[in-house]
Amino acid sequence: MVDPNYDFLKDRNAKNREIYWDDVYAHELINPAPYDGLLVSMSAVRKKDGINAGRVKYAIKEEQRLLRDGIRKFLRLDTEYLKDRIIMGDCGAFAYVKNKEPLFSPLEVAEFYEDAGFTHGISPDHIIFRMDESNPAKGSLTTDEKYRYEISQNHAEEFLKLVRQKKYPFEPIGAVQGWSPKSISESAKNLESMGYEYLAIGGLVPLNARQIKVVLRSLKDVLKTTTKLHLLGFAKAEEIHEFQDFNIYSFDSSSPLIRAFKDSKSNYYSPKNGKGLIYYSAIRIPQPNENSKLLQGIKKGLYSPEILLEKEKLSLKLLREFDKKLSNKDDVIESVLDYLEYQLDGSSKDDQRKQRELKDTQVHLERTLTDCPWKTCECPICKQVGVEVIIFRGNNRNRRRGFHNLYVYKNYLNSLGIH
Ligand SMILES: [Zn+2]
Repeated sequence: MVDPNYDFLKDRNAKNREIYWDDVYAHELINPAPYDGLLVSMSAVRKKDGINAGRVKYAIKEEQRLLRDGIRKFLRLDTEYLKDRIIMGDCGAFAYVKNKEPLFSPLEVAEFYEDAGFTHGISPDHIIFRMDESNPAKGSLTTDEKYRYEISQNHAEEFLKLVRQKKYPFEPIGAVQGWSPKSISESAKNLESMGYEYLAIGGLVPLNARQIKVVLRSLKDVLKTTTKLHLLGFAKAEEIHEFQDFNIYSFDSSSPLIRAFKDSKSNYYSPKNGKGLIYYSAIRIPQPNENSKLLQGIKKGLYSPEILLEKEKLSLKLLREFDKKLSNKDDVIESVLDYLEYQLDGSSKDDQRKQRELKDTQVHLERTLTDCPWKTCECPICKQVGVEVIIFRGNNRNRRRGFHNLYVYKNYLNSLGIH
């Protein structure tokens, strides 16, 4: 979420802003919404014995509101035009990947999906950290790996039984786990035989595009054509055009959003003339009084807060003037590099690394400022906040850039005929 009335010039939230009530989701800023639905992990909502404490994103009060109002109202997907969007639940297996046992039982998970009003619920699974294309036999697995495979299968079976017995209103999705293309397709086939019509394939995150294709091909060989496939955390979402022959029904991906502020250089998506996407680097002008690295450096006496503020202010001023054609590109580049050099001088990086980082940043700045992609973007974010969207600093700019990426990504999917 972002503060819709954030003051970019003063770098301040709106007066009397209340975080949940006043902040808005991407689907409240961009119409049509830049996604067909949202996926929420149970481990991000429900605390359990402190095991997943670091992964819990909601306060108890928020969890209570979510359960009382229902997930649709909580996410504000309850308006007339959004009321049909998918809200998928999963158990968030990464939160307890190091534990021997899964965090939640099938009954707890099913009750959670029902209480919260999800439209789709994925059976609780346990991640197996192995992918071997040579298809080794089950006998070669460690006891722990075998257990993870079996418990995922058993939980899927129990989960489906519960959904049928108690006539839960959400659509059940079976979570597939395996250690090789063959075991994944066997697991999927088992789940299909149990009665699942929709399957979610996990464990794809560390695989490259070629390996994912091997897995998808083996699934295609064994499953009914009517069985729907969901790819969990599909990291190759930007190469989706390469996967169009595999009968993928749905996928989720956080990369358009996350790359806006986690990627070292590809932060801002743009449509490529013709087909595809291109990426630009955002312009890093950190806030000395907010950025944790700079704050620490100030504490240690590595930086003078006055010098940081002065360099920050000059970079912001020149960039904003450049956007209005009142200053030139080279002056912006010079000031941003000067600010960066000062930051690097207070870091522990050696000279060679410093020089490389300065050189790389110069190349990226040159490209971003030559093309000025925010000026031609039609999305409501770029139209409203303009050049602020390309500045890498704080949640209000970084997340907005992520929202813009979602918009560009969704249009890209539609251009491929994917809806
Ligand atoms: Zn935009």
